[in-house]
Amino acid sequence: MATLSKQVAELFQSQVQDWELAKENYKGVGSVETRTFSFGTIGFLVQYNPKRMVSSAAKVDARSIEERECFLCAENRPTEQKAVDFIGKYEVLVNPFPIFPRHLTIPDRRHTRQEISGRIGDMLVLSENLDEYVIFYNGPKCGASAPDHFHFQAGNKGFLPLEKSFESLSKKVFAEKTGIRIGTISDYPCPLFFFESQDKYAIAQMFEKLYALLEMKEREYEPMMNIVAWKNEANFVVCVFPRAQHRPDCFFAEGESNILLSPASVDMGGVLITPQEKDFRKITENDIRQIISEVCVSSSQLEKVADRLKITWK
Ligand SMILES: [Zn+2]
Repeated sequence: MATLSKQVAELFQSQVQDWELAKENYKGVGSVETRTFSFGTIGFLVQYNPKRMVSSAAKVDARSIEERECFLCAENRPTEQKAVDFIGKYEVLVNPFPIFPRHLTIPDRRHTRQEISGRIGDMLVLSENLDEYVIFYNGPKCGASAPDHFHFQAGNKGFLPLEKSFESLSKKVFAEKTGIRIGTISDYPCPLFFFESQDKYAIAQMFEKLYALLEMKEREYEPMMNIVAWKNEANFVVCVFPRAQHRPDCFFAEGESNILLSPASVDMGGVLITPQEKDFRKITENDIRQIISEVCVSSSQLEKVADRLKITWK
C-alpha cells in the first residue's frame, strides 16, 4: 500500500471514531436508500441523501461566497477535522457529508479559486497514490460548493457506475497514438470524452488541448466541466464531461415540478443525489433524461469538439 493510502486509511479510521459529525454521518451513509434506473447497458442510481442539502443547495453566487467564511481554509475548519499532506501543496480531509462510504476532500493549502488548468498532472499523481479511490473535480459552476477555494474530491472505487462499468462501455476512439487513446462513449447517458494512457503527462498535455477547445461562457474564467479520474492496473483513465448549464430548470421550478438536484461529478458518474425525500420518491427516468439534456452538452456539440481536437492532434 502506498504511503499516502496508508495515511489516509488511518486518518479515516480515526476521524469516524473521534469526530462526532463524521461518526454520525458515516454511520448513515451505509444505509441510504437508492433507486436504480437503467439506461441501456448501464444503471444509474438515485441516492436519497438529506445530509447533502448543504452542498446541493449551496449558494455559490459571488456575494454569498464573499459573505461566508471559507470552510476549506485551515483556520476555519472544525478543530476535530484532521489533515494528511499531499505533495506539500494539498491537504487530504475526510468529507463530513459523505456520498461514498469513504469520501475525501482535497483542498489546496492556499485559498485560490477553483480552476483545473495546469492541475490534471496533480490529479493523476493523486489517483496513483490513492489507487483505491476515484478522484473528481467539479468546476466552479458545476457542483463545487466552494468555487473560491481549489479542491479535488475522492470516493472509494466500486461505487460509481461509470468506473465500475467503464471496461464494458462502447468506446468510439477518435485519436490513438503510441500510448494514448482519446474517445467518446456512445452508450453512456451523459456525453463525455475519455483519455486512457499509462503516461499521465501525455494525458495532461492532451487535456489542455481539449480545454482550449471547449466553449468559455461570458464572464466565466473556465469552460464548464466535471472530471472523474482513476488509475487501474494498466492505465490512467480520465473522463471529462463538458457542461452546458449549472443547475437544471427543475431546480428553480415552483411547486410540483420542483426537483432539488444540482449535478456534479458524482451525478455524471451515475449516482444522482436527491437531498429531499419528495424528489427521491417522484423522480422518473424522463426527469433524469431531461436534467442530463439541460446540464450536459449535446452529443453533436461533443462531436464538433472531437473533430477540432483531431485536427490539433495531427
Ligand atoms: Zn479557503
